[in-house]
Parts: sequence; C-alpha cells; structure tokens
Amino acid sequence: MAGKVLVAGGGGFIGGHLITYLRERGFDDIRAVDVKPMDEWYQVHDGVENLVLDLREIEACRIATRDVADVYNLAADMGGMGFIETHKALCMLSVLINTHLLMAANENGVKRYFYSSSACVYAADKQTQTDVTALKEADAYPAMPEDGYGWEKLFSERMCRHFREDFGLYTRVARFHNVYGPHGAYDGGREKAPAAICRKVADSVINDTNTIEIWGDGLQTRSFMYIDDCVKGIVAIMDSDIEEPINLGSAELVSINELVDIVEEIAGAKLDRQYKLDAPKGVRGRNSDNTMILDLLGWEPSISLRDGLAKTYAWISAQRAAEVTAG
Ligand code: NAD
Repeated sequence: MAGKVLVAGGGGFIGGHLITYLRERGFDDIRAVDVKPMDEWYQVHDGVENLVLDLREIEACRIATRDVADVYNLAADMGGMGFIETHKALCMLSVLINTHLLMAANENGVKRYFYSSSACVYAADKQTQTDVTALKEADAYPAMPEDGYGWEKLFSERMCRHFREDFGLYTRVARFHNVYGPHGAYDGGREKAPAAICRKVADSVINDTNTIEIWGDGLQTRSFMYIDDCVKGIVAIMDSDIEEPINLGSAELVSINELVDIVEEIAGAKLDRQYKLDAPKGVRGRNSDNTMILDLLGWEPSISLRDGLAKTYAWISAQRAAEVTAG
C-alpha cells in the first residue's frame, strides 16, 4: 500500500476501529496518535506505531505527520450531549488540533487529509420537531450550529476547504451522525445515548432493579450509524472525488423510546422508565438525508439498528459483568 497512514485519535472509539479496517484492506504502515495514556486507549493494535502526543501542539503535529501520506483526523475533545453541553470551551479548543494538523500536513507534504465533522454543524432551527425533515448538506447554512462543539466543527470544515483551495491540499470531510458500537465510551460522562442505554439496561439486569432513567421525554428522534458502516464510509469518502462536506449517517430514524425498546428486547428485559426532563437532550429531532452519498458513492450506511445494538449490548454488558466480578 502506498505510504504511511496517520490515524489521529487512534486511541479513541472510531480511530481504533478505523485502524482495524485499514489493516484488513492491506494498509500495514500505520501510526496511531492519541493524547490519552496508552492504557486508556480503547484498542491498542500490535504492529502499529502507537504514539502519545498532544495534537493541540504544532510540534506534536509535525512529529505525527512526518513521512505520512494519508491523515485521518479523528482526534477531538468530545462526548455525548452531557459532555458537549457543559464543556463548550474544551470542545472549541479542538480547533487547535485540526488547524495544527493541517499546517503540519501541508509542511510535510501529506497527500490526503480526512476530517471528521459532525451533524452538530446543522442549524438548530431545522431540528425542532420529532418528525424531522432529514438534513441535507446545504442545511448547514445560514450557520447556527450546536453551541461550542458544532461551531468548532463548522470552522474546521472551512479550514479544510481553504487549505484545499489555497494550498492544493487534498482534503475530504464527512459529517458523522451518531456513531455507536463496541470499544467506545459507555460510562464516565462522555458516552452517547446508545452506549448509555445499553449500560443502563445491563446494570438493571445485573442488579435486578427493573428501572431505567431516560434523559428527556424519550420522544426525541435520531438516527444511529453502526461503527462498521462508519469506517467503510470514511475510507470510501477519502478515496472519492467528493470535495465538499458530506453526510455519513444512517437514515433509520427512531425515537429514544424506540431505542430503549430494542435494547430491552435484546436483553430480554422490560424496565420501568423514569424520565429526567431537565437532563441534556440536544435537538428535538435529527436524521441524515443520504441523497448525496447515494448519488456519489452508490452506497449508504445500512446496518440495522437492531443488528448493531445486539453487538454493542453484548460488549457493554460483558464489560459491566466483568467489572462486577472484579469488584
Ligand atoms: P473519542 O472520544 O472516542 O475519540 C477521540 C480521541 O481523540 C480520543 O481518544 C481522545 O483522547 C483523542 N484526543 C483528544 N484530544 C486530543 C489531543 N489534543 N491530541 C491527540 N488526541 C486527542 O470519539 P469518537 O467517537 O471516536 O470520535 C472521533 C471523531 O468523530 C471526533 O472528531 C468526533 O467529534 C467525530 N464525531 C463522532 C461522532 C460519534 O457519534 N462518535 C459523531 C460526530 C462526529
């Protein structure tokens, strides 16, 4: 395979899975970089150059991009709604990561650069109903994204665009919609809804409590993309001639109550639902319009929520059971 690949944020959820996928596709010269100590990485791959660096620093970005052909930037200080609504400055400081990585990539002659944006760039006034019209790429403007996290993503998308226009750097940008799967955060405050619900159901089953706390009234809607679709889409977008930011998400819209129904069914449980109405809950409804990706790639994420959650629940419930056993 041509050249070294950098996976920035390689100790994180999506980065860890992307490395597996790239290796399956024959990429054998991979550098993974993350700021966390290596014993906190979700996956540490043998045969990969694993480095602990703070990519907010330009010097660290120069080291990370040295002799690299492809950069996948998945590094960001982020989490679910509970994190991004209460850590806006930290989320915005991820601007340093993408800015310095772009500068260093340009200096070091990197050939291709991928940036992981988010559906949080979309204007809030287009997401006020549960029966939403799916968001198409043009809906990001006029801009009124998620405060903090979404503004950083939108700014960084534009930075990629201008590095392409002004310096000729090959950049690709995908807007992920809620990614879930094993080997990611499921507690501690950074977890997202699917992992949090799997953990809560698993805990109810293990502790025989029969109750579950749900953030909001459970009627808010979302789509959720299984990690295998996400990494496949990332590489397809990197390989494509799609220069503008593009949605990468599932179009299977469900309410949070329906998400809980599915996890309960997988776990063989029926729990008493307690709604925490003042908890962080994000926009009222959001779905991915996949017209563009279908047109340009002839493909869209298609792994069903039922199938993806079965794998995710199996992993999270095994983690919880092991934690109980370990005391
Ligand atoms: P994650 O938190 O599991 O992974 C991000 C990784 O970046 C973490 O391991 C973190 O330690 C690392 N990181 C943070 N600051 C760093 C720094 N200064 N230097 C080096 N590494 C640093 O999150 P994820 O779910 O894997 O998300 C990956 C990317 O996808 C992020 O850019 C995120 O904003 C984006 N995204 C994710 C989702 C989702 O649902 N998971 C949705 C939209 C966008």
